[in-house]
Amino acid sequence: MALGIELVPGRSCGECTLCCTNLAIDTKEYRKVPGVPCAHLCAQGCGIYDTRYPVCRTYFCGWRCMDALGEEWRPDRSGILFDALPDEELPAQYRAGGRNLRITLFGRPASDKMETLYRFVSTLIAGGVLVVLAVPGPPGHDGAHVVLNVSLQEAAENGDLFRIEAFISEVVVLARDAPFKPVRFENTD
Ligand code: SF4
Ligand code: SF4
Repeated sequence: MALGIELVPGRSCGECTLCCTNLAIDTKEYRKVPGVPCAHLCAQGCGIYDTRYPVCRTYFCGWRCMDALGEEWRPDRSGILFDALPDEELPAQYRAGGRNLRITLFGRPASDKMETLYRFVSTLIAGGVLVVLAVPGPPGHDGAHVVLNVSLQEAAENGDLFRIEAFISEVVVLARDAPFKPVRFENTD
């Protein structure tokens, strides 16, 4: 991922393979739909690690990049994946706007994680970072996502965590009922 920061020294993915299963890949070298394990995944992890695709070599989730997130925030443990979206995947009005962070909620993360997340969202939005909340769809389908900044700017500036929690909870409930669409690959290279 391109968060513009260094990888945390000494931190590795370990047994986590969450991105290899849950994310879509749409490159000229390889395609896979989200929510389905990559065909190269094996019990030991990536079965083609030394020759894995360019997209796999350059993707690192936020946990690999943010020192403040302890071991318990590894995505397969926390159920929360942080990463950044490329400009072209952002809604048009937010492109070229600077830093962004996507937060994808897998399953139902524990309440202590969510409480920390609300504080984190508040700090990010107040600091001018574009924050996108995402909920995955069924296997093979695009998930739902919403930019939080417009609705939560005032709450973030006031440190109103109750408002942030209420809004995110409402969005998650609505998103889980969304009419998810099957993935359509767009890379025509
Ligand atoms: S989600 Fe993060 S920690 Fe897990 S395998 Fe992917 S890059 Fe590694
Ligand atoms: S090729 Fe390897 S690193 Fe890339 S998605 Fe598949 S299992 Fe993961």
